[in-house]
Amino acid sequence: MLDTLTIDVQPTTASRLTKLDPANMEFGKLFADHMLTVEFTGGEWQQPRIVPYGPLNISPANSALHYGQAIFEGMKAYRQADGSVALFRPLDNWQRLNASAERMAMPTIPEDIFMQGLRELVKLDAAWVPDMSGSSLYIRPFMFATDGALGVRPSDTYHFGIITCPVAAFFTKPVRVRFEQKYVRAAAGGAGYAKNAGNYGAAMLPSKLAQQEGYHQLIWTDASEHQYVEESGAMNVMFMIDGKVTTPALSTSILDGITRRSVLQLARDWGLPVEERRVSGREIIDALTAGRLTEAFGVGTAATIATIATMGYEGHDYDLPALTDASFSRRVGVALDAIRNGQAPDPHGWMVAV
Ligand SMILES: *Cc1c(COP(=O)(O)O)cnc(C)c1O
Repeated sequence: MLDTLTIDVQPTTASRLTKLDPANMEFGKLFADHMLTVEFTGGEWQQPRIVPYGPLNISPANSALHYGQAIFEGMKAYRQADGSVALFRPLDNWQRLNASAERMAMPTIPEDIFMQGLRELVKLDAAWVPDMSGSSLYIRPFMFATDGALGVRPSDTYHFGIITCPVAAFFTKPVRVRFEQKYVRAAAGGAGYAKNAGNYGAAMLPSKLAQQEGYHQLIWTDASEHQYVEESGAMNVMFMIDGKVTTPALSTSILDGITRRSVLQLARDWGLPVEERRVSGREIIDALTAGRLTEAFGVGTAATIATIATMGYEGHDYDLPALTDASFSRRVGVALDAIRNGQAPDPHGWMVAV
């Protein structure tokens, strides 16, 4: 049925666009003028609204604050060569948000509310989409429980929102990572595959301890044996071993990254062997010292590719070989950028115009 959804729009009368300095964009600090808000009450999603960006009013007994029914997404819109704006794989984010919602006993969002709300919001704030190389508009959809009641049970009411912020190219120096074999990020049967807020809170202490030892990130290992690689920080992780793009297979404890999917798809398009399987820290270090492991990198929306320079394992640091322009992780980063900016063909239909 073609029931057309309408979105109420209340444009700002005090744009903050003049505060945007494209030469100095700090990630996640300055938000675009508007936000989408939709309330779930009485068992259904209410009228979606686009309103000026601003604080929300919540109860101190808000059940998301106390019991953690809170999920989010991370995605980007890119300025195209012709000046228009396009989103990268937004339906994948919508589906993943709903998978997270189901795991957290929260209501799912209908496709039209998510997609139309997203498009109209980005269109209205299109002037906030930067156009310098590598820059983009970061988009943060989120949903949280809003019941003001302390009973431990799924909330009856929820807030769904989308906020956006312009971000510069995310230049990360090659990172130092350490295999974490004491703390765990997520266990089999837990909620590691969902983008729920609690996963990130629980990762902060182990990450901080690793930073105090001079590492940027952790490589999380499995919860039962502490041997098998899961993810690197809040990114999926990949290794080039014997010329094969090797990455941990998805499970209930691994986030199904859209960058991961995209990188594996490009590898397959280019005829490279791809292995999604269990991979242990020992195997990684043995392959590295034997000269068979040539690249290790994190993949995720914020940075796209985060090159790993050094891996700490059982008290020793192991350096990776330097990359060249022929390295897979470099080539795939360049190829993804070109698709996102509309400079290369998009054979998989990943880009969606707003
Ligand atoms: C968001 C996220 C990723 C990367 O997912 P993308 O869709 O590629 O951004 C990987 N791991 C974790 C834990 C994440 O939260």
